[in-house]
Amino acid sequence: MEHEEILHRCFRCGFCKLPSDYGSLNCPAYLKYRFESFSPGGRMWLTRAWLNGEVQTDARLQEVFFSCATCGNCVEHCIFDKFRESILEAFIAAKAEMVNRGTVPPPVRDYLTRLLAHGNPYKMPQKKRGQWAWELGVPCYTADAEYLFYVGDVGSFDGRGMEMARSVARLLLKLGVSFGILGENEGSDGNDARALGELELFEHLAKRNIETFRRAGVEKIVTLSPHGYNAIKNDYPRWGGNFTVRHYTHLLDEILPAAGDFGRAGAESVRRAVFHDPCYLGRHNKEYDAARHILDRLPGIERVEMPRNRADSLCCGGGGGNFFTDLVCSGPDTSAAARVVEAADTGAQLLVTACPICTVMLEDAVKSKNLEQRLQVRELSDLVLECMAG
Ligand code: SF4
Ligand code: SF4
Repeated sequence: MEHEEILHRCFRCGFCKLPSDYGSLNCPAYLKYRFESFSPGGRMWLTRAWLNGEVQTDARLQEVFFSCATCGNCVEHCIFDKFRESILEAFIAAKAEMVNRGTVPPPVRDYLTRLLAHGNPYKMPQKKRGQWAWELGVPCYTADAEYLFYVGDVGSFDGRGMEMARSVARLLLKLGVSFGILGENEGSDGNDARALGELELFEHLAKRNIETFRRAGVEKIVTLSPHGYNAIKNDYPRWGGNFTVRHYTHLLDEILPAAGDFGRAGAESVRRAVFHDPCYLGRHNKEYDAARHILDRLPGIERVEMPRNRADSLCCGGGGGNFFTDLVCSGPDTSAAARVVEAADTGAQLLVTACPICTVMLEDAVKSKNLEQRLQVRELSDLVLECMAG
């Protein structure tokens, strides 16, 4: 197994499941299951024992491996610089080994089967990929447009994700950005297939997108989701896919009007807002500032921070394919539930994020914790549109 050589270096000190102040649990899998085997260190030892034949593959072991939300907290907080960058890659390699042996949990098998058969996990026909944009006047991408707006699976097919795709597209149109979409020619970015260890399927999806982008003459890409951003930025170059890629928050940060130029001097009332860092923007790509800069410009918004922010952010639990496979998303001790309580405790009325998966996960958690009267989850582009409309 790739990265096998690092497994013995972990001596299970446990720092990797905590944030910088050691004051709470920051590994979504451990938070939910509360067994050391689900923590990053326990996972390392268990993987080693499994490879040595001391532990057999069973449903519980599969659950341990696939409940990792690939949030990157362990990479950020392992105290050993020499191998911490490889920890998450080792967990993905262990999942890949399970995939190769054909021993994955049923929800993972079903997700990957749907993705392989339909090109998306929603079992939707490819021709409906651009349906979210119908009636918006969003142009199809042509080589004279500056940006390809890459939407991805959740933005194309999930009800809430489609709303988010529409609000980002509306903003781009309003701000005069030259862009287009691929619609039915767009393919899944494959980021979550990679996180689930289906590396061949990921390579296939990535190569297909790269070929489509090239044929269309794409040079610059702006993405809806941090997951697509991560795959195109960090993995596609391996197969020659070298594009200038930005998450939509970076582009907005650059082109949005300055504070005070939103068409009205200020808002009548002030709403307090916290920003939830999506893991694939934050820890995976060290992008923490753009969304905060945008919030600071909005009239009537006072930005405060949750105790766990930036590199210490608590994952919503939906990463690593768990949004679809639900291995860490249900029950009372989910990280999304802990996150919305943390947000409400700051006194914020708005919990803002910039990822379709985080938005859905956190909205569900607000409902399950009965916090609807205190806290509203807002997707950043939608909030910006509201402020621009006055
Ligand atoms: S992965 Fe690093 S921080 Fe975590 S238990 Fe092992 S040595 Fe400690
Ligand atoms: S990546 Fe996140 S969910 Fe996975 S083991 Fe590390 S801290 Fe836990």
